[in-house]
Amino acid sequence: MNVLVLNCGSSSVKFQLVNPAGKRALAKGIIEEIGSHNAFLTCQVNGRDEIKKALEVPDHDAAIRLAHSTLLHPEYGVISDPSEIDAVGHRVVHAGEELTDSVLVTDDVIEIIRSCIKFAPLHNPHNLCGIEMAMELLPGIPQVAVFDTAFHQQMPPEAYMYALPLTAYTELGIRRYGFHGTSHGFVAAAAAKELDRPLEELRMITCHLGNGASAAAVKGGISVETSMGFTPLEGLVMGTRSGDIDPAVVLYLIEHEGLGSDEVNTLLNKQSGLLGLSGVSNDMREILTQAEQGNEDAALAVDVFCHRILKYVGSYAAVMGGLDALVFTGGIGENSPRIREKVCARLAFLGITLSEAENQRNATSIGSGPTAVLVINTNEELAIAQDTRRILREI
Ligand code: ADP
Repeated sequence: MNVLVLNCGSSSVKFQLVNPAGKRALAKGIIEEIGSHNAFLTCQVNGRDEIKKALEVPDHDAAIRLAHSTLLHPEYGVISDPSEIDAVGHRVVHAGEELTDSVLVTDDVIEIIRSCIKFAPLHNPHNLCGIEMAMELLPGIPQVAVFDTAFHQQMPPEAYMYALPLTAYTELGIRRYGFHGTSHGFVAAAAAKELDRPLEELRMITCHLGNGASAAAVKGGISVETSMGFTPLEGLVMGTRSGDIDPAVVLYLIEHEGLGSDEVNTLLNKQSGLLGLSGVSNDMREILTQAEQGNEDAALAVDVFCHRILKYVGSYAAVMGGLDALVFTGGIGENSPRIREKVCARLAFLGITLSEAENQRNATSIGSGPTAVLVINTNEELAIAQDTRRILREI
């Protein structure tokens, strides 16, 4: 079975052709800077050289057509006929409270995704565009939507409610939804496999540390807490997002600095986090390098980043009444021994001790204490392809 996985972001479209039974994608590509004059396509078919092309890509419709024609291209494509695509799996950011699992796309599902545009205005419209274009280009081929929010939909009310007037929730839908669900679910399942223990009996904390970063408390395979909230802004320190702050800071910026909502939005989402603190970059590699060279702001950014993770790990262990495994994933989680070491150095009280050699070489199992510490490479596209296969088997 071949699943076309589409991930339509605000200015990019990522696509992969994946056999859910295999580990490697048959082809993967990305179209970036959509809508600008600098749009470009990168595509790699398994076992062949990567191709890169600068192209005019005015909008997302054009980008999805380009992804489709790239996969079918006689010279550098991977399939010769659209019938070689058996299903399409779409990454969709927000399903609100309506959908708690991946789902076959129907008119009703499209309406639900549309109704959640108000919660994810930068993502859901493009996700919908992906669905509509795929229906046009691949008529009759089943489409499955896989949601970032779904994995967290079983959180208990005490975890997802904000202590605002109840009507904020009942009338406006303001609550914690959580994101990165596909990744947290995927690495939790992979970690259980690695430990050779049933997922149902494990208490795990999964830390997805990429440009966006979030943690989840996964008890018995269910997300019972997660750090992102109403939007992906809450929680951990991220590349350019602040994570947790006192909400009164926003009021202060508006009242005393005269900032408008767009400016506050830009400040919190684009100018904060690692970039804001370090003044160097949003890229952890660069920040670590500068910190080692004595840049104090870069060192502070690393300290705040790790301290925030530590706080979440401690509180999530309390929420679950203990911890069996701490799991690192995402670009930073998978590749940075220094960050893992800094986080774990103060977790001996939870039975966490790192094996230095294993940590240095990014091994899968890096703990030497009673609580497992794992590095699991996330693969959201494979997770979407596997979910697509599961949903199609269930119907
Ligand atoms: P995205 O959220 O965009 O998918 P990734 O999961 O690819 O992001 O993570 C990107 C982050 O991973 C960047 O901050 C990058 O610096 C960091 N990263 C990648 N490799 C390393 C490394 N060897 N050491 C530290 N950080 C790394």
